[in-house]
Amino acid sequence: MRVLITGAAGFLGYHLSKRFLADGHSVIGVDNLITGSPANIESLSAEDRFAFVDHDISIPLRVADTVDGVLHFASPASPVDYLEHPIPTLKVGSLGTHNTLGLAKLHGARYLLASTSEVYGDPQIHPQPESYWGHVNPVGVRGVYDEAKRFAEAMTMAYHRHHGLETRIVRIFNTYGPRMRAADGRVVSNFLVQALRGDPITIYGDGSQTRSFCFVDDEVEGIYRLFHHPNRVEPVNVGNPAEVTIRDLAEAVIELTGSSSPVERLPLPEDDPKVRQPDITLARRILDWEPETGLREGLIRTIPYFRGLIETDDAQARTLP
Ligand code: UDP
Repeated sequence: MRVLITGAAGFLGYHLSKRFLADGHSVIGVDNLITGSPANIESLSAEDRFAFVDHDISIPLRVADTVDGVLHFASPASPVDYLEHPIPTLKVGSLGTHNTLGLAKLHGARYLLASTSEVYGDPQIHPQPESYWGHVNPVGVRGVYDEAKRFAEAMTMAYHRHHGLETRIVRIFNTYGPRMRAADGRVVSNFLVQALRGDPITIYGDGSQTRSFCFVDDEVEGIYRLFHHPNRVEPVNVGNPAEVTIRDLAEAVIELTGSSSPVERLPLPEDDPKVRQPDITLARRILDWEPETGLREGLIRTIPYFRGLIETDDAQARTLP
């Protein structure tokens, strides 16, 4: 199979490309590198079955080769990034989704959309099942990401219903692991980098807000299984349901890195969801999947990567302005 993966230079796009390559498939990776890492493309390019196209997928792309699958992972995904690039975020979620769906239609390829737990917004139902319609502020600062992904889901369903395209939608919950950028700005990379450098650990608000963190290998396995599922068109949550407070996460990071960093409190960002936890009943049943890596084990597997970044590049965390 030859698959086209947008966002291949990004954290999930990289790991997903690796997964397809490991199974003997060919991958065309598309990225404009606004938030992706050239180092990821360099590593993927060691494989002859990987080809890189430097392109902004908000602009249509023609591919001469046959394409059997299109997986749309391009988007700034860290709040710090999408607040810095609000219009490219809206464009890649809307125009980029339209362009990738068009590409899949032209090639008769299967399509998978990387959607997000952000479609649930600041949820009023907890944990969140796929049937929940969400609670999103369309005009708040996070709306650029959330509404683009909600539009992307609607567009994907329309291509399925109207054009008969074979589509899949994965709702990805907080994911972490090696190859996140040090300056990604999301909580796991920030805390690890801060702890390893001895910088203050920046907790936004009182740290009582919760998230449920999935180790990247588990996340990619769930996505890979959904892509290959014979007929599931409606969205599927893929995430780890083990819910922790941000304070708990800070404590675990400090303990596992042996850090003596102090904690610093910063203001809670606008519309920051108070809780988040996937209901993965559906993924368990139809994908025969569930996460295998707990938070402590996942952090232990991630720490050496960040230690390396700090030692070689003097990498720093990035907090919201
Ligand atoms: N957060 C924090 N300190 C940081 C970065 C994030 O306390 O340096 C908090 C943030 O307010 C949110 C949670 O950690 O409640 C997860 O934030 P992240 O940016 O990782 O992703 P989100 O789940 O909000 O999209």
